[in-house]
Amino acid sequence: MAVSDHVNLDEFMAGLVRRNPGETEFHQAVYEVAANVFDYIADKEIYHEAQILRRIAEPDRIISFRVCWEDDSGNIRVNRGFRVQNNNSIGPYKGGLRFHPSVNQSILKFLAFEQTFKNSLTGLPMGGGKGGADFNPKGKSNNEVMRFCQSFMTELHRHVGEDIDVPAGDIGVGAREIGYLFGHWKRLSNRFTGVLTGKGLEYGGSPIRTEATGYGTVYMLQDMLKQAGQDIEGKTCLVSGSGNVATYAIEKINQLGGKVLTASDSSGYVYDDHGIDEERLAFLVDLKKNRRGRISAYADQFDAEFFEGQRPWSVPADIALPCATQNEISQEEARTLIANGCKAVSEGANMPTAQEGIHDFVKAKVLFAPSKAANAGGVAISGLEMSQNSARITWEEEELQKRLRNIMADIHTSCVEYGGTDSDYIDYVKGANIAGFIKVADAMIAHGVV
Ligand code: NAP
Repeated sequence: MAVSDHVNLDEFMAGLVRRNPGETEFHQAVYEVAANVFDYIADKEIYHEAQILRRIAEPDRIISFRVCWEDDSGNIRVNRGFRVQNNNSIGPYKGGLRFHPSVNQSILKFLAFEQTFKNSLTGLPMGGGKGGADFNPKGKSNNEVMRFCQSFMTELHRHVGEDIDVPAGDIGVGAREIGYLFGHWKRLSNRFTGVLTGKGLEYGGSPIRTEATGYGTVYMLQDMLKQAGQDIEGKTCLVSGSGNVATYAIEKINQLGGKVLTASDSSGYVYDDHGIDEERLAFLVDLKKNRRGRISAYADQFDAEFFEGQRPWSVPADIALPCATQNEISQEEARTLIANGCKAVSEGANMPTAQEGIHDFVKAKVLFAPSKAANAGGVAISGLEMSQNSARITWEEEELQKRLRNIMADIHTSCVEYGGTDSDYIDYVKGANIAGFIKVADAMIAHGVV
């Protein structure tokens, strides 16, 4: 008779915390999934016998390495690089690279864990991984960033490949960094393959990859509202962040008739009563992307208000789209949003809402799309970039726009299938967790004890 892991959720979490001391973001991400999955598998002995939850919460491997590089003044600088290869049961590891001073093992483990379920939800054959370094590209010259990327890839190239592990961008890793990383991979391997996604269009990138996460987050919002008999037209929205995800989310909200009142960066947020329309968005994109400026310059340009060191969640609005970083909506901020009449939240960033905040949103029946569903559009187009690279073809933009829209609609449908409650309310957190879990768990069982 097999030994089942019929522990309860508290015992399971106590074991996880004991084995992964101090990794609070990782604990948070696992708890959020396990809380739903425990209920779902309660009467499904096969998952217990196979110890699936215990196995799924243990990364396949974690690679940690020193990254030495020389700055423009000739000083030797040392950073720490990582790649967390979480699970490759349904396809090669896939997930972004983050370059930010806050990067540590706990954050990358949480991101790689989340990525596993997110990739499963897309319906494409991709496993879960994540990586990065505690390197801050801000304030560095192009040459410094290039030398860092080359040093980082000198180690990483041993562990990645188009059928092994396919990294992409994330915070601090955009087109410039992907270009330097790809160039060095090509030189080291003497091969031209789809080893990274988010590449430039000239060398194997996919149309709409840059737009896909922000657009997808808004498509998820649109589908949730439609399910509840509403739409985006005329609604006011709060957006946090002003990077890749935030700016394309703003663009799509504008296209669908909504009005975006805020945007932010790590220095504070701007409130623009007029709305961040097309012209103002173009200024914001240029400011952040090309001039790498601070968001206060937006307020100076357009007579908007700048709130230093604050987040936008106290502004009354119909919709919230957190698109900056993890844990940027606390429980208190969630309660303020609810009290101010917020009807829907779609998470563009990864795990931006604190666990207690999610609980309050669900309790208050706010439509709430968790990141693993809401921001899966980016990795979905990355998956299609991998397909195009393997087949040595490029699809037309129109084709990819259609595929992105369909994938987001399918994710919404999966969430509805598994997220039903006793009332009309759909619990999208539960739906996404269970739908993402089933495919990975069943593949793991099919592969035996590995
Ligand atoms: P990005 O282009 O680097 O932009 C990040 C934005 O968030 C910037 O405005 C940044 O402000 C702000 N930010 C970062 N850390 C912050 C902090 N601690 N406090 C306040 N603001 C902070 O990155 P991105 O690609 O848009 O990614 C944003 C989020 O989406 C991340 O959680 C990422 O994991 C997630 N995501 C991204 C993709 C994708 O395709 N890019 C896909 C799925 C999920 P500063 O300019 O001041 O740093």
